[in-house]
Amino acid sequence: MANDGWCPFATQRPITNSGNFETGRGGNKVKAVVLHIGEGPLSAFFPTFNNPARKASAHFTVGKKGEIEQYVSIRDTAYANGLRWDNGSWRNPRGILVTPAWRGLINAVNPNYYTLSIEHEGFFGEAWTEPMYLANLKLLQWLRDETGLTYARGETLIGHNDFDNIDRPNCPGPNAPFDRMLADLNGGDARRAALLAGANKLGIPLNDQSALAKFALQNNLGVPLSDEFQFQVGATPYLAQVWSQAVVYVKIGDWGNPQRT
Ligand SMILES: [Zn+2]
Repeated sequence: MANDGWCPFATQRPITNSGNFETGRGGNKVKAVVLHIGEGPLSAFFPTFNNPARKASAHFTVGKKGEIEQYVSIRDTAYANGLRWDNGSWRNPRGILVTPAWRGLINAVNPNYYTLSIEHEGFFGEAWTEPMYLANLKLLQWLRDETGLTYARGETLIGHNDFDNIDRPNCPGPNAPFDRMLADLNGGDARRAALLAGANKLGIPLNDQSALAKFALQNNLGVPLSDEFQFQVGATPYLAQVWSQAVVYVKIGDWGNPQRT
């Protein structure tokens, strides 16, 4: 990894308070980049992250004018995506039980150790400025080069809400342009774009990187007619989705073995 984990085109503002981040990643590999909205101005981030009373930090903030600030090396652990394992469940920093949507979580290991965090200036109800979008994109490209990640929505490119559905349901919120990012990061794919647009037309927020959707796409099962839903056979929980040619389903946790009706 080049540059000791410091981005060459970011403004480097290293946190000097050692209680707000951790050196190294406890031996873990980066599994995902997590996007946040800061609910405040760019000027507020560094003072917050350098305040020993806050025990908070992110690796980066992207500003509305396209500024990029970095506070923690990507080799080190920032404190933006924390969850606490408690006897088989996850709790958020307030100690409240959460049900994370992200399937990359490692039981009992705080996700801060295997994620990177990008904060964004502004409020969740605001549209992203074009300079902020482009700076964020450039940063994601650099992070991909540094980590070897392949970006997929819900897997390796996620939101804070994918960890904490209770206190952070709108971080980064509906204005974070994930679909555009993925299209720009992964190259234009007309078939994929048509599918996403078609699903959107039906009111279905399709995650085409989920296990079920990937399986349906590989097997040419048409278009999704429902969101993902759960059902049970005896005590065994399944996740399913209705596609126009079949219902696809998978035993929860056995993500590599989807089936079709
Ligand atoms: Zn957040």
